[in-house]
Amino acid sequence: MQLRYSFRLYPSAGQRSALARAFGCARVVYNDALRARETARSEGLPFPKTGDLSKSLITEAKRRPERAWLGEVSAVVLQQSLRDVDTAYRNFFDGLKGKRPRMGTPRYKSRKDTRQSVRFTANARWSITTGRKLRLPKIGDIKVKWSRTLPSLPSTVTVVKDSACRYFASFVVETGPEEVLPKVVPELGIDLGLGHFAVLSDGTKVDSPRFLRRAEKRLKKAQRNLSRKEKGSRNRNKARLKVARAHAKVTDARREFHHQLSTRLIRENQAVAVEDLAVKGLARTRLAKSVHDAGWSAFVTMLEYKAARYGRTFVKIGRFEPTSQVCSRCGVKDGPKPLSVRVWTCGACGTVLDRDINAAVNVAKAAGLAVPACGAQVRPGLVPAPRSETGTHPTPQPSTAR
Ligand SMILES: [Zn+2]
Repeated sequence: MQLRYSFRLYPSAGQRSALARAFGCARVVYNDALRARETARSEGLPFPKTGDLSKSLITEAKRRPERAWLGEVSAVVLQQSLRDVDTAYRNFFDGLKGKRPRMGTPRYKSRKDTRQSVRFTANARWSITTGRKLRLPKIGDIKVKWSRTLPSLPSTVTVVKDSACRYFASFVVETGPEEVLPKVVPELGIDLGLGHFAVLSDGTKVDSPRFLRRAEKRLKKAQRNLSRKEKGSRNRNKARLKVARAHAKVTDARREFHHQLSTRLIRENQAVAVEDLAVKGLARTRLAKSVHDAGWSAFVTMLEYKAARYGRTFVKIGRFEPTSQVCSRCGVKDGPKPLSVRVWTCGACGTVLDRDINAAVNVAKAAGLAVPACGAQVRPGLVPAPRSETGTHPTPQPSTAR
């Protein structure tokens, strides 16, 4: 399986301007190649070959004064730009032939694009130094924050600058079968709760963590601040960058939360089942906003690939399963209930059921998993007391809240 690994880069001021030159040169070669092909197309001439473009747009262009600066960056980066134009055209024509979703003609790149990138292949002789820095030709040794272990060193690295002016090194890594985890017993159903991020068939309700909620609050504040700034003013530009940064923080925090939760659930359970919400079909319902905000589909994608990677079972059950209409204890279907009904008593067996947990158990059962139904029961009188009232510690405990 191919997985993408991204690591934050911290280039120095000099390296940032060298990267800016590389982004710029890669963009110019890309646009020159696009122009050459579009001209040939409009004049009915055959498509210029990549080898010819390489000669005219890189090798020969460097000798002309107005393109001499192309010599300041790694030639491999420029070659890669030509290959990117090739890919863009191939995708476009495959779309016309119906081999993949249709897309527009390849577009020119702008210096105002929020995402800039360059790719270094093995030919560029990039490397990781003994001091764990990323060595790029004609740019230097860049500091990397290795937030995860890279299972193997791939031949290609893409350097990206995003809208919040952050730099990343992105690697595509092939993972092997050696990662399969030892078997465990528990199997789990997961339901998307309305009030919670997810509800598990073992009775756990998972909320988004405090660091994510805090980042979301800061983003809202930055957006409010931006809307008050006068159009075209310098302060508005500053506020816009602040929003971009806050937005990037929310995206990161959310991805981090999804990673932590999905890794834990896949490690602790042999099989995991979710309901296929077909997120697109929900676009106009009241669930839509909460589904989008919670990033449910990104989370489900992680569960799916991690299950494949670690040798676990992943099941998606169809949307038609009436998970909230059936008692997970006795299986009697007693009809739809309005969303406001969170707890009810099964008319057939008398079990008091929690709506979300009952749904999670039903998801697991519909997927054919072995899950005890008792998790969905609510026992009045055994409701856990709030933290402040659970005074069983002999000594005051330090708060775990961060
Ligand atoms: Zn029942």
